[in-house]
Amino acid sequence: MRRPFVAGNWKMHGSRAENAQLVDALLQGLPAQAPADIAVCPPFPYLWETGKLLKSSIIELGAQSVCAEAMGAFTGEVSAGMLRDVGCKYVIVGHSERRAIYREDDALVARKFLAAQSQSLVPILCVGETLEEREQGNTTSVVSRQLNAVLDVAGVGALANAVIAYEPVWAIGTGKTATPEQAQEVHAHIRAAVAQQDAKIAAGLRILYGGSVKAANAREIFAMPDVDGGLIGGASLKADEFLKICAAAQAH
Ligand code: PEP
Repeated sequence: MRRPFVAGNWKMHGSRAENAQLVDALLQGLPAQAPADIAVCPPFPYLWETGKLLKSSIIELGAQSVCAEAMGAFTGEVSAGMLRDVGCKYVIVGHSERRAIYREDDALVARKFLAAQSQSLVPILCVGETLEEREQGNTTSVVSRQLNAVLDVAGVGALANAVIAYEPVWAIGTGKTATPEQAQEVHAHIRAAVAQQDAKIAAGLRILYGGSVKAANAREIFAMPDVDGGLIGGASLKADEFLKICAAAQAH
């Protein structure tokens, strides 16, 4: 049985006051026994304070990116050790906005994945195809390439302490959601690819769906057998939406 996981990616939104309000509303609204593991990923400057607000709660802290290097002259970057130091448990690597806007390629994403695990952070590895790649029939080959870039350097054993998020680029922030069947097809492909190397790790691997998930569509997507929760962007900024999405999480 895989425990579902719902993570909120706040992206570059929020302020100290807004974050405090959002966290307060989440903590008030969550049942004592949440049906899923839950995390929020605020921007770097807010990690420490948000972590303090979340202290002793069931909501855990994640970051949105990490430097591949451990320390040194890398102006503007934040290391995995620093994220650990301020209380992060998770870090997103390979988000499509990082891949597309900041030109992070598969090799760099793989190095970030390793950097995260070297500090005992749990990477949330994002994979997903663009609309053009889907229309050309390349969805599974793109996702496999992104996954293999990490498996080649980290080994399949590394997935015992990682989460994968399938996020079709055409569905992120667009209001277009993959159908539950489209999501399931790719999630099943990812799990089968991992199972070829290690069936036990594949069976325990949490594969989240991300891309315009909201309260109105979460339940049907999360009901698919290989969908283990979601990585939520826009809807994670609204407490009532995010709480309903968390409530829709289902164990498989
Ligand atoms: C994301 O940023 O990972 C994401 C899924 O965004 P949204 O939910 O807004 O599409």
